[in-house]
Amino acid sequence: MKTCQVSVVVPCFDEDEVIEAFHRALLAVLEPIRHTFEICYVDDGSGDRTGARINSFAAGDRRVRYVSFSRNFGKEAAMLAGLRMSRGEAVVLMDADLQHPPELLPRMLELRKRGYDQVVARRDRTGEGALRTLLGAVCYRAMGRCMDVEVVDGEGDFRLLSRKAVDAVLALPETDRFSKGIFSWIGFDTASFTYRNVRRAAGSSKWAGRNLFNYGIDGLVSFNSRPLRLAIHAGLALALAALGYALWIITDVALHGVAVPGYTTLLTAVVALGGIQLATLGVIGEYVGRIYSEAKRRPHYVVRETSESPDRAVRPPGALPDAPPGAPPVVPMYEGRRRA
Ligand code: UDP
Ligand code: MG
Repeated sequence: MKTCQVSVVVPCFDEDEVIEAFHRALLAVLEPIRHTFEICYVDDGSGDRTGARINSFAAGDRRVRYVSFSRNFGKEAAMLAGLRMSRGEAVVLMDADLQHPPELLPRMLELRKRGYDQVVARRDRTGEGALRTLLGAVCYRAMGRCMDVEVVDGEGDFRLLSRKAVDAVLALPETDRFSKGIFSWIGFDTASFTYRNVRRAAGSSKWAGRNLFNYGIDGLVSFNSRPLRLAIHAGLALALAALGYALWIITDVALHGVAVPGYTTLLTAVVALGGIQLATLGVIGEYVGRIYSEAKRRPHYVVRETSESPDRAVRPPGALPDAPPGAPPVVPMYEGRRRA
């Protein structure tokens, strides 16, 4: 297998509007730095012309390779596929929307040369609303306290990994992948630097439907069993409180006789206990759900085509299949679910 010095892994989902500009910007940075390189695109079941564009990049350039999924499997699966196909001594993961500036690559490679196995580019929160910044900070602080691995605010998937680090990531077989936790779990010497947050160059974020709270729960449940421990603690604390309350009532009745029945107290206690029981059941359910999906041992994604497929449809650059004028719109048979 032919190796190279740097692989750039780019997961793409419906990035038609920005992928050309991204590709040009990336080549403009990679070509002058005199490293042998490859760009590994992963088309995560895009419904637009992203796949055709990537295909055309690869047709004219052997340094570009790609894999296309049969449908949208989510960014985690796309990153995994990219890492698996990469052959470089160092692998850089980056988004296709130019929010991860390619100009930072030389700096990352420089830090790699100094011996770091992971180099993380950490974005600041420039241009974000105050509420979002506050929520993010609170969420990360809470996750940091509850998780066994360290997750840092602003540190995402934009990072360089050495071959050793990539092999360590690929050795983790879990189905429900939480990359932020995985990168932290594998360890190794890590360097990080901060860059100014930039807006998406074009197109729209695929994150709109997911909120920070659910993401926090994913992170928590993926990396430890502390929520279960917390449920035991809460249960015991409540049982003790109930015992204390019962003793107090018994003493009160012994000393002063039967008082007015405490309907409100009773109702509050029942509702509160019901809520806690439901929440605990939810926690257990999250873990059981994960065991279920792990037990099925399904592959993380299904590949439709790769740049190495013998029967791939090679389209020369500039020959993207445009619909003829007046043609009826093509309705996709399967509208992939958008996952981040
Ligand atoms: N992405 C993907 N599959 C998905 C969702 C996103 O491969 O199901 C890619 C997307 O094309 C982009 C990167 O993941 O290159 C980050 O996505 P996005 O910009 O929507 O996330 P945000 O930057 O808003 O967190
Ligand atoms: Mg983005």
